[in-house]
Amino acid sequence: MSERKYIVGNWKMHGTRAMLAEARAIDRSAERLIKVEVAIAPPFTLVHACRKEATLIGIGGQDCHHVEDGAHTGDVSAAMLKDAGAGFVILGHSERRANHGETNADVKAKADAAIAAGLNIIVCVGETEAERDAGKAEAVIAKMLAGSLPSGGEALTEKVTVAYEPVWAIGSGRTPTPEEIVAMHTSIRKQLVKAYGEEGASIRILYGGSVNAENTRELLADDIVGGALVGGASLSAESFLGIIIAA
Ligand code: PGA
Repeated sequence: MSERKYIVGNWKMHGTRAMLAEARAIDRSAERLIKVEVAIAPPFTLVHACRKEATLIGIGGQDCHHVEDGAHTGDVSAAMLKDAGAGFVILGHSERRANHGETNADVKAKADAAIAAGLNIIVCVGETEAERDAGKAEAVIAKMLAGSLPSGGEALTEKVTVAYEPVWAIGSGRTPTPEEIVAMHTSIRKQLVKAYGEEGASIRILYGGSVNAENTRELLADDIVGGALVGGASLSAESFLGIIIAA
């Protein structure tokens, strides 16, 4: 497992070409920050331009379709993302699960397609506040993982990252405690070992949900937290670099 923290910016549906300056600024600084692996996932329309602007950081997509091409108006395939210069894709984000009705089976199909196309994947899982309050968070996450992870069968350690993002922490300014994050990451680690054996022991697990420059150090302190998936605070180079420096 990489010792470096992995900090990924999820731009969501933000950004026109004016945002390329942010990608450039992040890339310039990432060169100095060899202790941290940095990536951004801009909207599809900016993937290719970001790849050209930024040469050091990773560039990825925020979703892909599970088939390679065909009559799927409005969709983008993993092969297309790869062709545009993406190295990875975020899958199963809670906003896609909620807004587009994506099921665990959908996420798994996308995960298999992305890996077949040569992309790395970040598979997102997270419980709602009601599920946490009911004491069901770990069981919910275990079920999501079992249904969403790719099939395996080939070396997946470098290709798969899991992001634990409690739905109630996304964009809310609220986060679990560092202890709660470590407990959930430990539970996820067990699931990964169950799914993939030894390989599962070294798959990276990120935390996501209201990460900012002020809370990064505390939330990512334990070695089991492999990094962060960052939404709002990744939209300006200044705030994102604050997180990268703190990581
Ligand atoms: P946030 O989003 O950092 O704005 O809470 C995180 C995410 O949705 O990946």
